[in-house]
Amino acid sequence: MRRRHPWLFSGAVARSQGDGADGIAEVFAASGERLGAGAYSPDSQIVARLWVFGTEPAPGPRLFEERFGAARDLRARVLPPQTTGYRGVHSEGDRCPGVVLDVYGGTGVLDLSTAGTERWESGLSEASTRAFGLERLVVRRTGAIRDRGGDARGSRSPSEDDLGRAAFTENGLKFFADLSSGQKSGFFLDQRDNRARARMFAPGRGVLNLFSYTGGFSVAALAGGAMRAVDVDSSASALALAAEHRRENGFPAGDSDFVRADVFQDLRARAAAGERWDLVICDPPAFAKRKSDVDAAARGYKDVNRLAMKLVAPGGLLLTCSCSGLVDATLFQQIVFAAELESGGAFSLVARQGAGADHPVSLDCPEGEYLKGLWLARS
Ligand code: SAH
Repeated sequence: MRRRHPWLFSGAVARSQGDGADGIAEVFAASGERLGAGAYSPDSQIVARLWVFGTEPAPGPRLFEERFGAARDLRARVLPPQTTGYRGVHSEGDRCPGVVLDVYGGTGVLDLSTAGTERWESGLSEASTRAFGLERLVVRRTGAIRDRGGDARGSRSPSEDDLGRAAFTENGLKFFADLSSGQKSGFFLDQRDNRARARMFAPGRGVLNLFSYTGGFSVAALAGGAMRAVDVDSSASALALAAEHRRENGFPAGDSDFVRADVFQDLRARAAAGERWDLVICDPPAFAKRKSDVDAAARGYKDVNRLAMKLVAPGGLLLTCSCSGLVDATLFQQIVFAAELESGGAFSLVARQGAGADHPVSLDCPEGEYLKGLWLARS
């Protein structure tokens, strides 16, 4: 904590006092020196996430306004033009641990991911609305459930099923965030820069978009002049919205461009049929959610990459991603290397691209970095 790492683990706490009803934890060293203050999550392994250090005043409305204002100003400087969908507040990266705010035009989705920040809902909601000029705010309280090891997605209230959509633009392309989908806040904003690269690398290429969700990569590639793009995903509703996204941006959407399938099975079938693609995107969900998953996740990443690599035409490109924070960049590249050896192809790394500048990572808390993207060219 003296080096400003914001996480206090339960094992480090000798004594605690008070009931934490206001969501605030004040942290003291054995000597009595105050180390900082933040959000209190009594049932989590990380019992406190610090927002301030030393003797600075504990979090409250004024601090929320200050931090959210700074987060907004950063976005104003780093976002590309014609982009109204972005991450407004990125937890530790904006010195607001346990708070994520995604902005889609005039709609905000505020995720309070710790028990402590849940208690600050009214102050944080007000700061969101004010700093980002929102007309509508959807609040998700996933903290207390997550702290107890539950799956936050399973806890949605029935009213969350008819939240509808929020329209926004990304680099001039039109999209909708599906607020009821349960996937992130409705869109994968963190892949904006990779979609921009897909657009840049797309002219004349046939694109196979694996784990497509609502087809953002395909729309970007088509905007960049791709010949054709096929989305593969297991979710029918995601594919339905993918088709709408194409039409909305002036591209045709034929049934054969959307394949509802398990990607692993689909890839085996395509390899058996001898298919080759000029640009393959592979952006699976996080295979490792906890430490004990890492081995199985590594096998999953290796399998899917080996299969995807077989489909890349000579001279073609593969974007392969991992959004598991527990699989770090070095391990991910090792896994992709192992997949390459087994695939029979030879690939070179042409670019690394993670999340965009609206997903800042605090140097004090490198754990905030999670998205890895490797752009590989097949020789
Ligand atoms: N690339 C997307 C985000 C992908 S999220 C984008 O930029 O928007 C992961 C997606 O994988 C989800 O849409 C989920 O429905 C899908 N999915 C998860 N497991 C799958 C599987 N085994 N086969 C096919 N799709 C899967």
